[in-house]
Amino acid sequence: MHPKLLQHDLDQETATLLEREDSLALDCEMMGLNPFRDRLCVVQIGTASGECFLVQLFAGDDPVRLRQVLENQAIQKIFHYARLDLLFLKMQANIETANIYCTKIASRLSRTYTDRHGLKEVVRDLLGEKLDKQNQSSDWGRAELSTEQIYYAAYDVKYLFAIRSILDQMLEREGRTSLARELFAFLPVQRKLDELQLEGIFEH
Ligand code: MN
Repeated sequence: MHPKLLQHDLDQETATLLEREDSLALDCEMMGLNPFRDRLCVVQIGTASGECFLVQLFAGDDPVRLRQVLENQAIQKIFHYARLDLLFLKMQANIETANIYCTKIASRLSRTYTDRHGLKEVVRDLLGEKLDKQNQSSDWGRAELSTEQIYYAAYDVKYLFAIRSILDQMLEREGRTSLARELFAFLPVQRKLDELQLEGIFEH
């Protein structure tokens, strides 16, 4: 796996290539967990055939090609915990990601035998692979990413296709496929609520 590193936006060649896919694996790295404060630094994109592209973003960037790919309804974007990434993509890059699959929601709906739904645990349980999360809290805002960061970022999207395929089978087996789809379709609404910092809207 040789991740291709891009800065400020996708290049036209990569954008054209990605627009031909029907699904993409997505992840983001940020300066922190607060989308009102922290900058979005890296957007990772994986393809079904195992290619990986890392787009490094900097203050003031307007990633037009990246936006076009992520807003394309015809391409499903697979995230693990889409909720946070969707909020960062909107608030920090003005991207309204469309057609979302969240492996964390799929895991919570199907793997009710456990309360461990982190990417590392899901990858270990379903694929028997070990995911190293050591570089999670590193300085993703630096101009030149380290080799460790580049591979860490790429590994975060590497298994999403394989996980989706197993979770889809489990959802089907448990009769929760359509509920999962309804929850995925709600994610853009949840993103709007998060942007308004409106918690507990369904509460009494
Ligand atoms: Mn990540």
